[in-house]
Amino acid sequence: MFLLDSHCDAPLMLAKGADFGRRVEQGCTPGRFPVTHVDFPRMKKGGVNGSFFAIYTSNALSPDQATRRAFELISKVYDAVEQNPSRAALATTPAQARYNARNGLISIFLGMENGAPIQRDLSLLRMFNRLGVTYLTLTHARSNEICDSCTSSEPRWGGVSPFGREVIAEMNRLGMMVDVSHISDASFWDVLKYSKAPVIASHSCCRALCDHPRNLTDEMIVALAEKGGVVQVNFYPSFLDKAYGEKVSALIDAEEDAQAQWLGNPSDPVLQQRLQAAVTALNAVPRPSYRKIVDHIDHVVRLVGVKHVGLGSDFDGIETCPDGLEDIGKMQRIIIELRKRGYAEQDIRHIAGGNFLRVMEQVQRLAE
Ligand SMILES: [Zn+2]
Repeated sequence: MFLLDSHCDAPLMLAKGADFGRRVEQGCTPGRFPVTHVDFPRMKKGGVNGSFFAIYTSNALSPDQATRRAFELISKVYDAVEQNPSRAALATTPAQARYNARNGLISIFLGMENGAPIQRDLSLLRMFNRLGVTYLTLTHARSNEICDSCTSSEPRWGGVSPFGREVIAEMNRLGMMVDVSHISDASFWDVLKYSKAPVIASHSCCRALCDHPRNLTDEMIVALAEKGGVVQVNFYPSFLDKAYGEKVSALIDAEEDAQAQWLGNPSDPVLQQRLQAAVTALNAVPRPSYRKIVDHIDHVVRLVGVKHVGLGSDFDGIETCPDGLEDIGKMQRIIIELRKRGYAEQDIRHIAGGNFLRVMEQVQRLAE
């Protein structure tokens, strides 16, 4: 079995100075890390063979800031892998990942979340691809030069922009995967129309089970599967369970705000206390069980079978985790739950990572 996580925000923690060679301490007050979910020892404990580290940039950055930030994050990932040669290795193809696994190494792939760093320049897209970026999530929380976001206040393009069409064509040519997570419904349908290759949703759940614009409708899941793509279920409790999401929405805003202030001045005891209080308030709300993740997997399977679903945790990019799956060290719980629900071993292998690697292989084969 190759267990793959197609999306996490670990580079953000690396940029804050986390050392992935040792288990990064949990907890709010000690150390510099309010919460971390990923490091190499815990990936090993969870039986994880590969993980996509997201090169994430905020839509709030200027184009030049976004490009610089992307280079900074890529460089941090290179450093973390280089410092841990007995634990991890970079990978850009499924064949490389399988080779790494045979040698006992965890594969670190690069995905880019938000196309802002490529500005309006396809040569930057080609350079990021050469640096190892194998998928691009077209945008994030807001519209960009490529397309509209599902959480944009107002659509800027009504879907994919004319430049976005060029980006998709170039990605098809390069063998890069187009990621539809975060994009608007209209953008989704445009991507399906314009992409010649199958596409992925690197970290998205089912809207039928949790009505949120970040999640995919049944119609979208069916269309994505018909095109040969894959839906990688997100672990974020607010995308798994609508009632929980509504309960914590204001608490999450307060926690984010407290954390941003504290990061600006980590030695200030008042800011530290405020953050601690915000974290405690958020954690006091009961979180949905990790079994909800498997409910979303079941739903995709009922719609389109076992060949179009996988796992995209969003660890290190989420404020809370499902109950029972607080970090990547507990990933085997999903496998155990799939077995409990009667999935055959062959099918579990597809879900755990086989499906994603198959799509990746196909996209790369279609490259010109
Ligand atoms: Zn995301």
